[in-house]
Amino acid sequence: MGTQINSYAGIGVLVDNPHVTIRERSCSHVIPERAKYCPACGKEAITEYTKLHEALTDIPENFKHIISTDEQEHFVFIVSIDTDWEFGSNGISINLEEITALKAKLKEYLDPHGLWDEEEFRLWVVNYVSY
Ligand SMILES: [Zn+2]
Repeated sequence: MGTQINSYAGIGVLVDNPHVTIRERSCSHVIPERAKYCPACGKEAITEYTKLHEALTDIPENFKHIISTDEQEHFVFIVSIDTDWEFGSNGISINLEEITALKAKLKEYLDPHGLWDEEEFRLWVVNYVSY
């Protein structure tokens, strides 16, 4: 495998909190309330982990979820283009008068999930490099 570099330009938001914390029972045994470990199997009573928010993993087709190379930054674009090595580049134009309506559409999707940040709605350029 070689290195792959994808560059994206997109209009959308940087999502500040793309992960959710899941707390769930580690096993199905009956555990006394407040017990830290299961008396039957010895597992911790509650397992806690984080995962990507479902709104990002199951994103509508007309939106794009882009992750930076270090996987620290997650973006959701309403309009985007990308360039990758194999297929060359392409272009897109957008009528600036449409921005307000596109922004409303993106906000309508992200806001109920707590993923909208008005200050982060911008034109972004992002590189993703896979090693
Ligand atoms: Zn158990």
